[in-house]
Amino acid sequence: MSGSEKATLYYQNQAIRYTIRRSTRRRTVGITIDVQGVRVAAPKRMPLEQVVALVNTKARWIAEKYADFKRRSGPRKRFVSGEEFLYLGRRVSLQIQSDPGARPKRGRTQLGPSAQPELFDFDFSRTRPKAAVALKGKVLHVQANASSMQSTKEVREILERWYRARAEEVIVRRVQHYADQLGWPMPKVLIRNQKKRWGSCNAKGELRFNWRLVMLPLPVLDYVVVHEMAHLKVLNHSPRFWALVEQIMPNYKARHQALHELGMGLYW
Ligand SMILES: [Zn+2]
Repeated sequence: MSGSEKATLYYQNQAIRYTIRRSTRRRTVGITIDVQGVRVAAPKRMPLEQVVALVNTKARWIAEKYADFKRRSGPRKRFVSGEEFLYLGRRVSLQIQSDPGARPKRGRTQLGPSAQPELFDFDFSRTRPKAAVALKGKVLHVQANASSMQSTKEVREILERWYRARAEEVIVRRVQHYADQLGWPMPKVLIRNQKKRWGSCNAKGELRFNWRLVMLPLPVLDYVVVHEMAHLKVLNHSPRFWALVEQIMPNYKARHQALHELGMGLYW
């Protein structure tokens, strides 16, 4: 694969930037629309004007699909106090404290006597000296130490690290749950920052999961766990594979659909 060119498509009032990637193996022009935007794959020697003209013939379809993705992925996150995030399907509100002297304290919360800690309610991680995250009830407290100028980037990094750690905890536990249920040995589980995939399984039997899954409701996260675990026995998507998924999780189709609908919103 060689370098990429950029072009712009105009449809009604919209201007849509897209990337063209050249390949010696391609004979036709292919268009992909997903979280990474609009990408066009084209044969190595096809003149740019011809690629652009072909893309233009699909303008309406591209514009509609693109709008659909943007709508589903919601507004870009700004990483400011009051903004909503998702954790295991629940909406939690971000609260940033930027005074380095006032870290959230471990233990007691100030939510009153009725605030019983729930299963995932009180996670605390301090991944570096002056950065901490604590989920208390519906508030996700983040302790940042940067000045406000750099705080967006810092808060984003802190949150991502926290989500990855939570993903590791929750997903390992769910894989273990299904491994026990099926009487299978516990496979190796890796948490990754996958741009397009929710999970994958390789021939060595290693399972990889996207950390963003921990934002989803547990039944939907479980679908991805079961899907990848079924690949431990059948590496393709043949009818035999889907039969195995169904055997482990009879209502997998509704969960699969939910993943499709909720998944786009998880990319910041
Ligand atoms: Zn699969």
